[in-house]
Amino acid sequence: MRRNFVPLLAAGLLTSFLACSSYAAKSSDGSPTTVVIDAGHGGYDRGGIPGQRVSEKDMTLDVARRLRSILSASGYRVVMTRDSDVFVPLGTRTGIANSYRNAIFVSVHFNSATRRSASGIETYFYNRDSLSLASAIHHYVAGGSPSENRGVRRRGYFVLRRTNMPSVLVECGFLTNPTEASYVQNASYRQKLAEEIAAGVRSRGSVASSRSTTRVATAESIPLQPYIDQTRVTKSKKSRSKRSAKKSSRKKKSSSKRSTSEARAASSDREA
Ligand SMILES: [Zn+2]
Repeated sequence: MRRNFVPLLAAGLLTSFLACSSYAAKSSDGSPTTVVIDAGHGGYDRGGIPGQRVSEKDMTLDVARRLRSILSASGYRVVMTRDSDVFVPLGTRTGIANSYRNAIFVSVHFNSATRRSASGIETYFYNRDSLSLASAIHHYVAGGSPSENRGVRRRGYFVLRRTNMPSVLVECGFLTNPTEASYVQNASYRQKLAEEIAAGVRSRGSVASSRSTTRVATAESIPLQPYIDQTRVTKSKKSRSKRSAKKSSRKKKSSSKRSTSEARAASSDREA
């Protein structure tokens, strides 16, 4: 391990040097980076699951507005896919995003599950060039929250597949979990979530590549988060795991324990 220290340190320094040019609010040609903020759901689409007490669409809009204020103050040009309680089709959201150059896309959501104990923060990306943005946002949001870290995940959500820029969807906790729902109903917690997402946006260029390991990462660099690739689960694999789960418990307990987000894996065109 010690033998590798010098080259790894060099790689780490190089990474942080290269990073300096990319995490500013302006892109290399001097034009401002546009952050397209997508508040999940809206209008008749409340988000979450039927009977859910805390409305996801209201919480996403509130966090999105707070995020807009923070990023605007940092010099970013900010665009909202919605700024009121209206329904905006997914294709309209991605169309808005794709009409900007030098843009990144951040979709704000909250999770839900029929199992009340399901909790935690998870961050999704799809295109490989979105991984550093996902890593940075997840690093800050999961790190700044008392909630469980459910990791970075790769999945083909519509808004992630149809945006041609770095794009991330962050699930800022489960509104069906009584503890997390009580956090989210507190304005100062929503402000904190927005600040952490903004910190991730600002730091997206300082995510260490997989070559420079976290052991020698500088204080400012963020380790590349390991992720679960949920786009590669095939039908045969699913049925295999179901069979083996049956074998072990015979009562299919494992399937009832899945969160709704996991259950939605098959229908990736739906919004989170
Ligand atoms: Zn959602």
